[in-house]
Amino acid sequence: MVETPRTSRPRVSRWLLAGWMATAAFAGYRLMPTADASHTHTGWDQRHVATIHGNNGPASGGSGPGTQDEEYCIMSETSAMPASSIAPFIQETLTQLSFDIVWDGSADWRVDLWRTQKFCNEYATADRNRIELEYRIRESWASLCGGEQYACVTASSPVTDSSGAHQHYLYMNAHLKREQLAALATTTRARKFINHETGHLLGLKDPDYYGHCMHSVMHNDLYASLGCTDPVWYPTTSDFVSVRSIADRTN
Ligand SMILES: [Zn+2]
Ligand SMILES: [Zn+2]
Repeated sequence: MVETPRTSRPRVSRWLLAGWMATAAFAGYRLMPTADASHTHTGWDQRHVATIHGNNGPASGGSGPGTQDEEYCIMSETSAMPASSIAPFIQETLTQLSFDIVWDGSADWRVDLWRTQKFCNEYATADRNRIELEYRIRESWASLCGGEQYACVTASSPVTDSSGAHQHYLYMNAHLKREQLAALATTTRARKFINHETGHLLGLKDPDYYGHCMHSVMHNDLYASLGCTDPVWYPTTSDFVSVRSIADRTN
């Protein structure tokens, strides 16, 4: 939470859309074998943002997020892709495309993403520490992510959930490479990385073994090395169902 004006975004038809989403997710759940759901962190240490279980933001037309909403900021550490050039694209990918293919609004708006007014590195530390999610762009995250080709997420400040049954994290960061977001000719490839890493921020995991593939932005052809071939670049019904189970604490 940062006490500054936010970037506005369309919130019209919020409840209509939420109702549609609930129907779609329920239908998807009923039709899909359990084995086809994206898998999540389980047990005591669950890597997801702590605010995913609640929603206390404005019902409609509100001017700012509630304390259970997820604010995110963007920053770049490469002059080849200034934050000002990529931030609108990230925002569009997360919140402004068709409702059935964006993370925003999932789990009945317990995932409620708000882009901050400024870039992450423009905030004083005290204010920056109130922002739940950061998207950071660099040429390489090899040292942090374990290899030159990788993006990854990190989590910090573990806290115990109100249920007492697991711990989750106040802050999570997505580390993306410039190369993954470059080239407008491959727009869906860039969205694929943004949506995949966001799935991690919300608690979803990568495939566990060769052939662990499904129609999911977490199990798509980014994992060609594990035999996965689905090119899907947006969160699917399977992904939404899984995030709902995390929010419900039934994962
Ligand atoms: Zn949790
Ligand atoms: Zn991953």
